[in-house]
Amino acid sequence: MRENNLLPVMGEEPAIYEDPLDLMDEIDRLKVKKDATILAHYYVDGEIQDIADYSGDSLQLARDAARVETSTIVFSGVHFMAETAKMLNPEKTVLLPDMLAGCSLSDSCPADKLAAYQQELREKGHDFVTVAYINTSAAVKSLCDWIVTSGNAREIVEERVPKDKEILFVPDQHLGRYLIEVTGRDMILWPGACMVHEVFSLQDLLRAKKNNPESIVIAHPECPQNILEVADFTGGTENMRKYVTSIEEPKTFMVATEANMIHPLEAAAPQHEFVPVPGILTDTGETCACNRCPHMARNTLQKVRDCLKYGRPEILWQPYFDKAKEVVQRSLLQ
Ligand code: SF4
Repeated sequence: MRENNLLPVMGEEPAIYEDPLDLMDEIDRLKVKKDATILAHYYVDGEIQDIADYSGDSLQLARDAARVETSTIVFSGVHFMAETAKMLNPEKTVLLPDMLAGCSLSDSCPADKLAAYQQELREKGHDFVTVAYINTSAAVKSLCDWIVTSGNAREIVEERVPKDKEILFVPDQHLGRYLIEVTGRDMILWPGACMVHEVFSLQDLLRAKKNNPESIVIAHPECPQNILEVADFTGGTENMRKYVTSIEEPKTFMVATEANMIHPLEAAAPQHEFVPVPGILTDTGETCACNRCPHMARNTLQKVRDCLKYGRPEILWQPYFDKAKEVVQRSLLQ
């Protein structure tokens, strides 16, 4: 078990060490006492995924959030995910263990800039729909026509976006480029990217592949094109999980996504070996730890315990949630 409870996030005071097993017991007791359900994204630490009632990718968690029956939801993930859970459960208390757990991809597309760009496109005569990756704020979702995840993006673009419309795809240019390739639809791409998926080292990946030619490279579509070009399989986290479980013979997989994804992959297919694809080299010649998302890493067992105990930080309903909710429901739940 990793003791991430000891690791401070950049700019934070180191937490006082507490035994992870004691914390897990305390969380279990508080969960009952506070009538709470814990949802955890695949990118948070494995020990949090282990104590969660549901763990999964963004699409699965959005669907799980819509089915929760307890009065409180603790969303161990990042801010836009907890916003989505709140939209789908307006009457419930939705807690996020650390309100500063944001997302570089979501931040790359602020709502005011998107609104201005949409206006500019309309004035230039473009007849388009806006398709947004789920990694966007609720304010951005309220400006869009469709919300997609890496798990359902292809299906939504192919089956639900009218063929006679142009598509503005936000905010992930790499996922957008991948979708252009697999759907054949032309798209106007917003120039956003995820700080984690941008830094995989092609050089190290090719070297590792050369040393182990039998290995299978699996990559998230948020990765840049040069990584996707050498991947044997490209898919979102849930599709990765399904893919590795479909192969019975033990293999070595090189995994190009957030390093905590190794945890659910190992649980689903223990016959295989999973190796995280390294990030770029730092100035000192060491491989950086940038295949860990610093925002997801803000989630710790201590913070999950504290938010259950004190009932905060809480995601509060915002006026634009009504419109965003409509789009999310139409896109992800119907
Ligand atoms: S891994 Fe990237 S896209 Fe996912 S939450 Fe972190 S910064 Fe955002």
